[in-house]
Order: sequence, then structure tokens, then C-alpha cells
Amino acid sequence: MRRSLLDPWLAAKMGLPLDRLCPETVAAWQLAALRRTLAHAATHSPFYRNHLAGMDFDGLRASADLAAVPLTTARDLAGQGQRMLCLSQDQVARVVTLATSGTSGPAKRLFFTQEDLAATLDFFSQGMATLCGPGDAVLVLLPGRRPDGVADLLARALPRIGARAVLPPENWDPDLLTGLLVSENVTRLVAAPSQVRILLGHGAFSGAARERVRAALISAEPLGPDLRRAMARDWDCEAFDHWGMTETGYGGGVECAAHDGYHLREAEFLVEIVDPLGTTPLPPGEQGEVVVSTLGRRGLPLVRYRTGDAARMLPGPCACGSPLRRLGPVAGRIEITGTTYRLVQPDKGRAQPCSSFSNS
Ligand SMILES: [Zn+2]
Repeated sequence: MRRSLLDPWLAAKMGLPLDRLCPETVAAWQLAALRRTLAHAATHSPFYRNHLAGMDFDGLRASADLAAVPLTTARDLAGQGQRMLCLSQDQVARVVTLATSGTSGPAKRLFFTQEDLAATLDFFSQGMATLCGPGDAVLVLLPGRRPDGVADLLARALPRIGARAVLPPENWDPDLLTGLLVSENVTRLVAAPSQVRILLGHGAFSGAARERVRAALISAEPLGPDLRRAMARDWDCEAFDHWGMTETGYGGGVECAAHDGYHLREAEFLVEIVDPLGTTPLPPGEQGEVVVSTLGRRGLPLVRYRTGDAARMLPGPCACGSPLRRLGPVAGRIEITGTTYRLVQPDKGRAQPCSSFSNS
């Protein structure tokens, strides 16, 4: 089995020899990057100057110290997004507006610089190299055709690994896609589970897919084991699940050939699992809330941002040979009432806040 391609990529980004890449060296590198992020945010953003006031950033030396760094929420982003920004508006390349999950309050606005978008392009090409390579034609069904949207970024990332994107008209139906599979000799697919469900029920598409589509990247909604099995059975297609959200610049982590959790963009994000009722990071294996900090984003840094997703970290090593931890599947959304919390299962077919699907 091939080792996750993210490992050599991460090692290069962190300036570590590949044989020194391990959970301890990654954690130390991330803490140093987070200290720099906190100092940058507190210096340049009115929100963070106040939010992080009095913190001793240099004292942040171990994962347990993270509990002292205050969390941020979707509500902060919706209400204070502009004040979180560390650069002037004219240095922002793309603004994405998202409804805030579970509230009728103001929408969240995300600000991305050219640097942030370049980092996503880089991750997309690395992630897609897990399942495709030179000569592959990739049918991209995720939305986001506008410049720097998801489909557009994928279409620009694929040529870097010798592959090309096939973008159907936005009002596609299964018959039209069946024609494209044949005429464009499509060999790979990028789709959301709700789209896959529609296509699995279509005989002609399934016949054409079985002949040529050997792998698919699945994103935007959780991929359950049943859908993964159906894709293997009906299309002879290996599904690689992807985790990400608009807040992480769309990409977050991707499965390797072991299909045992998401290998993460560890050089760009510090992902923690945190007690949903507190601020303490939980040990590997324990379920809690996924909390994300950006490491190096200069425009809109996120510091211990509560995603609302419930998951656990899978301790390494992975069966692919990587010693690094992976993020396990998202078990649901966390809903806090008073001093307790419960998990809410996302509606099938509804675009999720944890996804790149809701933004086009
Ligand atoms: Zn792996």
C-alpha cells in the first residue's frame, strides 16, 4: 500500500527530513507556528487584540497549554469577521459569505488572500494525486465555478499532476453525464454523497461508470460505509473521502489507500478535538468537538475555531505507513444546551456547514 502522499509534502513544508516526521515533531512545529499566528493576530486585528489580551504566547510549549487559548466561534466570525481581519480589504482576493448554522443571525464572511488560495490549490493537487495522475479525466460535480470556487480550484489544480477536469453544465442530469463519461473518457469522479446516490440509481450511468471510473473523491457531506460499498459493488470504484470546510479554505484532509481517517493539512492547520463543554484538548480516541487554528494565514487567522463537528482523532501509525494521526469520520453536529450537549445528525442532502458544498 502506498504511503499517504501528504507525508513528503508536509515534511517539505515543515523543513523536516521525511524520516523525522512523527506526531511529536509535527506537534512542536505546529505550536511554534501557532505562537507566531497569535502574535500576528494580536498585533494586527482589533478583535484578537482584545480576545487574546494578557496571554503569554511564548508560554505555549505543550499541547496541554492550548486549553489557555480562548476559543472562537461561528458567532464571532459572523459578528466580528471584519475586526478579525489582519490586512486591509484590498489585500483580500476572495470573500465567501455563508449562513451561520443553527442561528438566524448574520452570515459568516470568510476572507481569503491570494496566498490562502494558492495554498488550497497546492493541497488540492496533492490530495487528488492520491487517486489520480497523468492522463486521468476527472468529472467534477461539486459546485463553485466562479473564479476561486471549489470546482474552479480543482480544475486549476488537476493539470499540475497531468490530469484534467471535465466540468458538466450546472443543470446536468444523469443522461448528460453518461454521455460525458464516454465522450471525454472520464476515469475519476469528484462528487458529494447526495450526487452519488442519484447516479447509483441510474442504470446507464452506472454501466458507463463501471467501465471506466476507478476512483472518486467524495466531499461536502459525510460518506457512510453503505455508500462506499455501493460504489465499489456497482461501479468497481474506490471512494476516497475528503474532509474540509470553507473556513479551512475548502480543503482539510483526505484519506489514503488505507481508508482509515483523514490525513490532515498539518502544516496549515492545527486540528484539535476539544471537550465540547470546556476548552481542554482531548486525547486521541476520545470524541469531542473539532477545533481548528490556522498556521500562517495572514489575512483572516482563525484561532481555536469551534467547527461544531463531532469527531475523534485516530492515533497513528496508519496502515499506509504514515506515523501521523488522522481525523476520524464526523459523527454529527454538536448542539449545546445548558451544561450538556448532544449530537445532531445532519439532514441527508442538505448542504452542511462543515462542507465546501454550500458555497458556490
Ligand atoms: Zn494512511
